[in-house]
Amino acid sequence: MAIDTDEILANASQEIEAAQDPQALDEMRVRYLGRKGELTALLRNLGRLPADERPQAGARINAAKERVQSLIDIRRGFLETDQLQSQLTDEVVDVTLPGRGEQTGSVHPVTQALSRIEEIFVGAGYDVVDGPEIEDDYHNFQALNMPPHHPARAMQDTLYLEDGMVLRTHTSPVQVRVMESCEPPIRVICPGRVYRRDSPDPSHTPMFHQVEGLVVDEGISMADLKGTVAEFLRLFFEQDLDVRFRPSYFPFTEPSAEVDVGCVHCGGEGCSTCGYSGRLEVMGCGMVHPKVLEMSGIDSERYTGFAFGFGVDRMTMLRYKVDDVRVFFENDVRFLKQFR
Ligand SMILES: [Zn+2]
Repeated sequence: MAIDTDEILANASQEIEAAQDPQALDEMRVRYLGRKGELTALLRNLGRLPADERPQAGARINAAKERVQSLIDIRRGFLETDQLQSQLTDEVVDVTLPGRGEQTGSVHPVTQALSRIEEIFVGAGYDVVDGPEIEDDYHNFQALNMPPHHPARAMQDTLYLEDGMVLRTHTSPVQVRVMESCEPPIRVICPGRVYRRDSPDPSHTPMFHQVEGLVVDEGISMADLKGTVAEFLRLFFEQDLDVRFRPSYFPFTEPSAEVDVGCVHCGGEGCSTCGYSGRLEVMGCGMVHPKVLEMSGIDSERYTGFAFGFGVDRMTMLRYKVDDVRVFFENDVRFLKQFR
């Protein structure tokens, strides 16, 4: 029996050359060199040869085994290099391209102003209270001394819902809810969204933000109101302002006042922000009407209180010299990113 390793070697060489991945090479190794491999089988058959032919045949088989192993090693090395190369090509990073930069978000300017306002009042011992944005007529109007026939209702262009509920026109109903459920002393601010049937223009949007404050205790006077308002405005605008109380009318306070400050931009000289008057109207306030206290179950003979309210969007506009309230709600990133 002749031992022919040439044909086996030729086949092995062809198949190894065609292998496309390391698994295929493993199969080659098993097929030719494994325990049941073709070359191993030849070795096992050596015993059938005449004794004088055995050493030479054995040497040829072993040489063939070494040759197959080395072909596999070479092919494996080639495949690995090839794989690395294509990985490098796929994952190439062009370091000459411009960087993408980081797009970080920021807190909306109105929210920033709200936090600032809350911080100032919390520092003065006030609680921050929330309430529903869809209110009943009683809390939005009647409990604030505006019965159904009252002409002051016409001052607010209310959005009514079908079931007689309203989108609250101010955050005052939250104050009513506080007075109904708490005993004096009361010291709260009520921030939140309010709604009115206004067409958008540079100073109006149908939704805006308000903060109202309420203090009820024994011996609260107009002097407490004036001191509180003046100190708040000084802290919010970070400057000493000339504060003026101008008599006004609200159904739920008596006496009532509008608060004007010297223009925060021109200092009273006159500019476009203040309409060349040198003054800015910033909030309404007054002593809580005794009838409002009584309706919410508070003894108006024993307790007095003051309330104030202002638009957060307007205060933010004044603080940052923004001349159109609508930009707060258009969410143009070029505008918003100035407030980081
Ligand atoms: Zn001015």
